[in-house]
Amino acid sequence: MNILLIGSGGREHALAWRLAQSPLCTRLFTAPGNPGTARHGTNRPDLAVTDHAAVAAFCTAESIGLVVVGPEAPLVAGLVDDLKAAGIRAFGPTRDAARLEGSKGFTKDLCAACGIPTAAFARFTELEPALAYVRQQGAPIVVKADGLAAGKGVTVAETLDQAEDALTALFAEPGAEVVVEECLFGEEASFFALCDGTRAISLGTAQDHKRVFDGDRGPNTGGMGAYSPARVVTPEIEARVMAEIIAPTLAGMRARGCPFTGILYAGLMLTADGPKLIEYNTRFGDPEAQVLMPRLASDLVPALLSACEGDLSGVSLEFDAQRAALTVVMAAAGYPGAVVRGSVIRGVDGAEGDGVHVFQAGTRAEGGQLLADGGRVLAVTALGDSVTDAQGRAYAAVARIDWPEGFCRRDIGFRAVAREAGEG
Ligand code: AMP
Repeated sequence: MNILLIGSGGREHALAWRLAQSPLCTRLFTAPGNPGTARHGTNRPDLAVTDHAAVAAFCTAESIGLVVVGPEAPLVAGLVDDLKAAGIRAFGPTRDAARLEGSKGFTKDLCAACGIPTAAFARFTELEPALAYVRQQGAPIVVKADGLAAGKGVTVAETLDQAEDALTALFAEPGAEVVVEECLFGEEASFFALCDGTRAISLGTAQDHKRVFDGDRGPNTGGMGAYSPARVVTPEIEARVMAEIIAPTLAGMRARGCPFTGILYAGLMLTADGPKLIEYNTRFGDPEAQVLMPRLASDLVPALLSACEGDLSGVSLEFDAQRAALTVVMAAAGYPGAVVRGSVIRGVDGAEGDGVHVFQAGTRAEGGQLLADGGRVLAVTALGDSVTDAQGRAYAAVARIDWPEGFCRRDIGFRAVAREAGEG
């Protein structure tokens, strides 16, 4: 069958690489795509993915048998609803189901109603009651914008002043909706589940580094690196996450008339009281997809088709259980602030092979050269016998890439590496 993948980041390059390997995939199109996805199929930068009728018309014209949506924005905009209404098979949640990512307040209310472990919280639509609440609760406390904010709407306030400043800034926007929640303590990890509306199967675990500088310092970014598996998520913890968080979420969504089909990406805090949900995303993470896809041994396409059909009961996914994957994001100087586009990147092909993949994100091909064209530009990914081994191989690949205008963190995976050193 022909497959259409929506998106243009490193996540989509990793997905394109995986989807194109499927014996079921005849032609792969990516809209808009990037020079990395072009290596596995045909890019369609001319297709406006916000124009759902145009996407549906393209699917009909090109006999698309499956649409896979990478980023969150088209899901929240209802692309899957509109494609389904046009009779086109699309993998991903409907607009109503994507509220698990699109509205933190919706998710918190669901958690409260279904007994899903999460931080205690309150929702506000006005500044004064929110200020009174944080003064009563005290710091540390977490202040979040309700809607999609590309990771920038969250303040973990160490002091009351910071919390009050964050609230004042959020309520400066008309119609603001804000969630204030208890600050949780523990190690963060991510869990990925493939869901068919009723059932979920594990796609594995990962940990990422959101801060721009070594030692997890500096401003938040979309993600500077990640590794999989996250061994802090033991099989016992994974079973608890499935039973206490994922399963009640699917039941709650069904009961609300919006069953969840797609990738449920749970951001977890592993607290002394067990795993608690920090947030949901309703699609693969970026850069987490870049470490999950290389470890997946099974064909992804039949699993996605079964999820679309609402029946994952016959599906089991195999992973490369022996190996870890680690990805190092190379970003343009200045990221996450303003960056200069157009610098030349050399050596990508020479860095690949032997379990190393250079997934492309903000790149552009011009005149036979690869140019930087965004903040996060490359995700240099390696498989290894351990996170430590994968880290060494990823940084060896980074060293082969000649891009003076780029930078990366030097310590991706440091917690797992320290843990492995401790295990001897
Ligand atoms: P979110 O966008 O909800 O994932 O939040 C971004 C980051 O803020 C998370 O990855 C955590 O590091 C932090 N965070 C969010 N909520 C909490 C919380 N309740 N307690 C502690 N840290 C949190």
